[in-house]
Amino acid sequence: MSMIPGDAAVRRFRRCFSALSAALALIGTAVFLSACGEEAGSADKLVMVTEATFPPYEFRMGREVIGVDVDIVRAVAEELGRKLEIKDAAFDSVIAHVITGKADIAASGITVTEERKKNVLFSIPYVTAAQLIIVMKDSRIDSAAALKNNVRIGVQSGTTGFDYVRNNIITDKSSPLLAQFPNGALAVEAMKAGKIDAVILDAGPAQALVAQNGGTITVLPEPLTSEEYAIAVSKQNRELCRTIDKVIRRLKESGGLREIFDRNKALAEQHRKLQERQQETSSS
Ligand code: GLN
Repeated sequence: MSMIPGDAAVRRFRRCFSALSAALALIGTAVFLSACGEEAGSADKLVMVTEATFPPYEFRMGREVIGVDVDIVRAVAEELGRKLEIKDAAFDSVIAHVITGKADIAASGITVTEERKKNVLFSIPYVTAAQLIIVMKDSRIDSAAALKNNVRIGVQSGTTGFDYVRNNIITDKSSPLLAQFPNGALAVEAMKAGKIDAVILDAGPAQALVAQNGGTITVLPEPLTSEEYAIAVSKQNRELCRTIDKVIRRLKESGGLREIFDRNKALAEQHRKLQERQQETSSS
C-alpha cells in the first residue's frame, strides 16, 4: 500500500462515495448525511475517542474498554438513543479526533485548559483532579522544590503534566532532563529501570500505578496543580455539548456519578489483583 500523503483521504472519499451512490440508489437523498458520517456523527452511533491506559477513567478489562469516562459517555449515548462506539488512540491525538470529525466525543481524563478551549467545546467539569509526583520509595526527592535539582522527569506526551513541567521546572526546551512517554505506566517502567528519577502524572492513574507496583514506588502527598476534567466535542457540536452537560448534571444530582467512580475504582483494583495473580502463576 503506498503512503502518499492524502492517499488515505482519497480512499476514504472513494469508499464514502461508493457507499453514498449505493445508498442513494436504494433509499434516496435522506441517507446523504449518515452515509458520509462513516467515521462519526452518524444518526445511530456515537463515537467516543479515549486513551485507555488511565484507570479508573479508562482502562481495558480483557478486550473491553471500561471506566468512568466510558460510563458517562454511555449515559449520553442512551440519552440520545445512539449506540456507543469507542476508539482507543494516543492521548495527544484525542482532541484532533473531534476537530476532524473522526470522533464525536473525546473523553479521556481531559483537563480543561485555555489553549484547548480555542479548539474544542468543553462540557461542564465532572471531577477535580491534580498532578502528582511519583518517585521510587527510596528516592531522595521529597517535594516539588526538589524536582529542580537536575532531576530527570518523565511525563505522558501532550498532557497538562508535560505543560506543568515545561512551564515550571524544566523550561529549557533542549534539556534532556524531560522525557515523554505514551502513557504513565511506561514512564514508571523507565523510572524503575533507573532511566528517570520522577514521573509527573494525574492522581487517578498515579495511585493505580502505586498500587500495581507493590511497594517499590510512591506518590508524594503535595499536589502540583488543581485541574478539572471535562468532555470535549467539536465547536460545531453545541447541541451535543448541551446534552452532555445535562447528563453530567443529572448524574451529579442523583449520586450516579459517585457510583460510577466507586464502581470503576473497584473494577480497576479487581483487574490489578487479577493481573498480579496471573503474573505470579506465570513466574512460578
Ligand atoms: N489530564 C491530563 C490532560 O488533560 C492527562 C490526561 C490523560 O493522560 N489521559 O492533559
